[in-house]
Order: sequence, then structure tokens, then C-alpha cells
Amino acid sequence: MLKIDFNTENMDKCLCPDCPVQIGSNCVKDEIRKIEEIQSEDVDAGVMIEPEEVPKLYCATGKTNCKDLYTHEECQCPNCDVWKENDLEVRGAPAYFCINGRAVECCKIVTDDEEHKAKLRGLRRTYYTPI
Ligand code: SF4
Ligand code: SF4
Repeated sequence: MLKIDFNTENMDKCLCPDCPVQIGSNCVKDEIRKIEEIQSEDVDAGVMIEPEEVPKLYCATGKTNCKDLYTHEECQCPNCDVWKENDLEVRGAPAYFCINGRAVECCKIVTDDEEHKAKLRGLRRTYYTPI
């Protein structure tokens, strides 16, 4: 089953922080401010940040709680390395994971390995068909 890890490597690749869908959201700004405040505090204070509270990598964590997103703007996921490495287009991902939920929930269209390989072959043919 498709699973995208919530880890530093994927966080670094994620394009959500600069995405126009959420960059103007006051709710997202508040989440970022909260994380920055926690990070500036003494680690011994024991304050933890839950993955769901981090406004990025929604393909791993799921829908945002923020209600003031600019949903008419363009999702940046298809330009992201996490998207490409996990073949999310071939798997039928709708992108906008901050609205649609985790990839593991919304990308069930292609779960079988053989079906996945066949779709990949089809996509390659589409891109590389000689004129
Ligand atoms: S999941 Fe897509 S639409 Fe949502 S913030 Fe990330 S890049 Fe933007
Ligand atoms: S696919 Fe979208 S949500 Fe997932 S890491 Fe990339 S930009 Fe972030």
C-alpha cells in the first residue's frame, strides 16, 4: 500500500510552504508562528509538535484544519519530488492533499503492482510516442 513517510527528507522536498493555496492563510500563519515559538523554547519543556500541526507534507498527514485556504489557486504537488518519486500522478492522486486528505486514502485507484506497472508503461508511451 502506498505510504508516504513524515520525515525530514520529505519535509525538505515539500512545496506546500510556498503554495498559493495556503500562503495567504492566517490560520496557516498562526500554525507556523506556534511552531516557531515552540522551537525557540527550551527542549526540556517537553512541548511536542504533532505532525498534523505542521502545515506541510499533507500527502502524509492529511487534511488541514484551516478553513481559509485559497482553493481556487494551483496546487504545487505535481511539481514536487515526493509526488514524482511515489508516482502519484499514475496512481490517480487528485493533488490538493490539504483538502483531499492523505495519499494513502485518496490514491487507491492503483494499488495492484501489475496495474501500476501497466499504467506506467501507458504513460511512458503517451510521452514518448514518436511523431
Ligand atoms: S497539498 Fe497542494 S494545494 Fe495543499 S498546500 Fe500543498 S501544494 Fe498547496
Ligand atoms: S506531494 Fe504535495 S503535500 Fe506531498 S510533499 Fe509534495 S508538495 Fe507536499
